[in-house]
Amino acid sequence: MDTSPSGDTVNFEDLGLGEAILEAVAEKGYTTPSPIQAKSIPAILENRDLLASAQTGTGKTAGFTLPILEKLSHQPITPGKRPIRSLILTPTRELAAQVGESVKEYGQNLKLRSTVVFGGVNINPQKAHLRGGVDILVATPGRLLDLHQQKVVDLSTIEIFVLDEADRMLDMGFIHDIKKVMKILPKRRQNLLFSATYTDDMKQLATGILHDPVNIEVAPRNTAAEKVHQQLYKVEKSLKTDLLKHLIKTEGWHHVLVFVRTKHGADRLCRKLDRSKIPTMAIHGNKTQGARTKALALFKENKIQVLVATDIAARGLDIKELPHVVNFELPNVPEDYVHRIGRTGRAGSDGHAVSLVDTEETKYLKRIQSLLGKRLDLVKTPKFEKTPAQPRGQARHQNQPIRTLSDNKNNSGDRSGGIHQKSSGGRSGGMHQKSSGGRSGGPHKNRARS
Ligand code: AMP
Repeated sequence: MDTSPSGDTVNFEDLGLGEAILEAVAEKGYTTPSPIQAKSIPAILENRDLLASAQTGTGKTAGFTLPILEKLSHQPITPGKRPIRSLILTPTRELAAQVGESVKEYGQNLKLRSTVVFGGVNINPQKAHLRGGVDILVATPGRLLDLHQQKVVDLSTIEIFVLDEADRMLDMGFIHDIKKVMKILPKRRQNLLFSATYTDDMKQLATGILHDPVNIEVAPRNTAAEKVHQQLYKVEKSLKTDLLKHLIKTEGWHHVLVFVRTKHGADRLCRKLDRSKIPTMAIHGNKTQGARTKALALFKENKIQVLVATDIAARGLDIKELPHVVNFELPNVPEDYVHRIGRTGRAGSDGHAVSLVDTEETKYLKRIQSLLGKRLDLVKTPKFEKTPAQPRGQARHQNQPIRTLSDNKNNSGDRSGGIHQKSSGGRSGGMHQKSSGGRSGGPHKNRARS
């Protein structure tokens, strides 16, 4: 729950949004704006540029989508072909599809049109949509530039430009594409930049794009990590798959997102789990877009038990009530650990993240723990640990909390912050969602449409 400077609770009604949007928000079951929404919505409605430090799970998508819809809905619709007035750029196809769906849901009571374009799928339906005219375009950079080159997209009429997950855009090497896009945008426009982390490159990019921005920092970058119960299993590398299978079966994990470092590793693990009668699919950059969309849809609909993913493919994914995230391998960039575990413990549900760490990964573990400012809860699994006694230097840290495997029930613990569902009761902070919306866990229609 967010409060105004006077200490009063902020409601969606206080933020300057019109009836049509308030109705759509109520239909989603949101009762209270999240901290980022409470701050970003009024600023965007006042035509300010925005620099927002927020990760997925904070409600940032509604934080920019709602005021964009509000602003555009006030302007008369020009007869004839509609000019594109807002461009939302995202790093991955999955995130583009997700944002596109939010735009449609939040704008369901308005006469605005939107579409999503990304690579890896047939370009022709996208061209047809664009030729029909849209007000809001959600895009990944490569396909957008392609469409622009083919003169199907005119960006000279953009009024509001959003760069979502800008840090990931840089990580993925999109800087040149972003610069190309910037060149074809009109000079006068409103810019909204969202990023979970702030490297020097990021600051430089922000300075080049934003004019006198309102800075919003809703939470330190490791907050998401704090509300997730994080466990650590030290395990012999060759026994990781066995341990994972053991945990899935004995702990009754029915919906697990597993992160690996490489595309081949993802395929390998997927095959092994599938052979053990654990329905699994993999999602990574070598898969066709059709395969990625299908795997994600089946996972969201609970039709497969495990989704094995690389970091890039899973970035920004919002999977409702995802109970478990497993780091089958630790990421070598500590911030990626935070992004990974941020997939669980969202929208008020309990979060649980497990890391399977072999001796070669100790260096990554150290960096992650130092970023978090705390140690992960160690669970002892003698059966899966290296059998020879560990050298003294690698002995357990004195303050390392220890559980045994038998204690290892998903202990929801005392968590705060983030998004909370009304039904969960008794928790403080974050945003609130009514449990009655009937949206949780079920199939998501049109989620990854092009
Ligand atoms: P995001 O950070 O934009 O990916 O949003 C994370 C999740 O929070 C999504 O499932 C949203 O539907 C949900 N959400 C967004 N705003 C609110 C709110 N005010 N109250 C409850 N849930 C919300």
